[in-house]
Amino acid sequence: MFKMNESIKFLPKSPFFRSMNFRIMVFLFLIGTVPLTIYSMMVMVSYERQSLTRLGNDVSNQCQILATQIGSAGYLENQDNETLAGELMQMATLYEGRIILIDQNLRIVEDTYGLEKGRTMVSEEVIKCFKGESTGHHVSGRFIEMIVPIMSGEDMGRTTTGVILVSASTDSLRGKLEELRTSAEIWLVSIGISVLALAVLLSNWLVRPLRHMNKSIGGLVEGALDGDLDIHDCTETENISNTFNSLLAKLRLMEESRQEFVANVSHELKTPLASMKVLADSLLMQENAPVELYQEFMQDIAEEIDRENLIISDLLTLVKMDRKAVELNVSVVDINEFLEQILKRLRPIAEISNIEIVFESNRSVSAEIDTTKLSLAFSNLVENAIKYNRENGWVRVTLDADHKFFYVKVSDSGMGIPEESLDYIFERFYRVDKSHSREIGGTGLGLAIARGAVVAHRGAIKVQSSLEDGTTFTVRIPLKYIA
Ligand code: ADP
Repeated sequence: MFKMNESIKFLPKSPFFRSMNFRIMVFLFLIGTVPLTIYSMMVMVSYERQSLTRLGNDVSNQCQILATQIGSAGYLENQDNETLAGELMQMATLYEGRIILIDQNLRIVEDTYGLEKGRTMVSEEVIKCFKGESTGHHVSGRFIEMIVPIMSGEDMGRTTTGVILVSASTDSLRGKLEELRTSAEIWLVSIGISVLALAVLLSNWLVRPLRHMNKSIGGLVEGALDGDLDIHDCTETENISNTFNSLLAKLRLMEESRQEFVANVSHELKTPLASMKVLADSLLMQENAPVELYQEFMQDIAEEIDRENLIISDLLTLVKMDRKAVELNVSVVDINEFLEQILKRLRPIAEISNIEIVFESNRSVSAEIDTTKLSLAFSNLVENAIKYNRENGWVRVTLDADHKFFYVKVSDSGMGIPEESLDYIFERFYRVDKSHSREIGGTGLGLAIARGAVVAHRGAIKVQSSLEDGTTFTVRIPLKYIA
């Protein structure tokens, strides 16, 4: 069976044959030569046909004149007329052919070749001509042949008393045509060579902007993507250059944030380790340290281990959420029930600081969501609302929906977020007040995780805050999941 790979093998492998340069060159060459070749062939064929028709008509006219002369001179009965005999010979020589005169009895009375004189010729064409049927002229091999009737008598009583058989050579005409064809071919070849040269120049000129672009990109890659593309050869390359520059800017931003992330992760992971090292070292340095001190320090070390664990598990969640094509495990969920469940889990934590959690829902809402991921997002928001609250404060969670989205608002009576920090709180490891947050026990990853989950649902998250009144996070999620 024929396989696709086999067909590919037949394609020229050389980069030149696959290049746009070569394609444009072939295209221009074909455009420049094919119509011209077809046109010149058509002109040649029509010229040949016309020339043959003209020769045939010429011979026919001459014969008609001769036939009239022969008829009126009675040459068929008596061939003494030397002028006519001379004219016959002259015409035969002129057309490099042969003229035969046949009388009513089908006897050949004159043959310019002198071969058949006196013989009888019985041929279908001759008999047809005697009957008055016109046979016209036709080309046979290297000759044009025709039969012309010789009429005698006056007006209505005219009868065919003989016929003239003429064959005129087409050799000299064909010779001239051949010469014409050769010179046309020479012209075509020289035009072909000029068109090819022009096609090479033109195709090179057309792909020059692309070559320039390739060279510039190569230069950028060597320079570790420093700098920008600056190509203005033509509108298209200018557009590509601009798009490429925006891609470069994005890449640089990604690289910057990657480096920042790695630095932050290392720093965050090292902090609990440094604390543990200090605690352990100070125990080791004290000889005969009391058991109570051991217990107290071990308690601190255990807390640092918990913190390290928390950072690592938050990081893992974030990495999972960050993946481009994050796969959502979507199902239709009753959102009222879903939020109630989350709040039920968090109420005991809120009670520690005597914080009241209120849930308000205006309607029953069901939507297509990934419960694990969105539960992480809402838990983080409510946990923050509890963590960054005051004693005896409140947290209000409200649910609303329209025909396209559902909206969850998490408001608190807490400390609020300073305006200058609002742009950064969703960034990984960002914390408004590092020392205070550490005391409270955050990793700085909660909001980044929440935003990741919301964005994966093609939703949006917004924050409003005032240092006196507290903070409100608003989450908008489509009711139907958009893949
Ligand atoms: P963390 O683990 O520190 O809570 P998050 O990413 O959840 O990290 O939050 C980032 C920072 O935003 C927090 O450190 C805190 O300073 C601030 N923040 C988040 N939610 C609230 C809130 N409800 N009230 C006040 N500050 C908040």
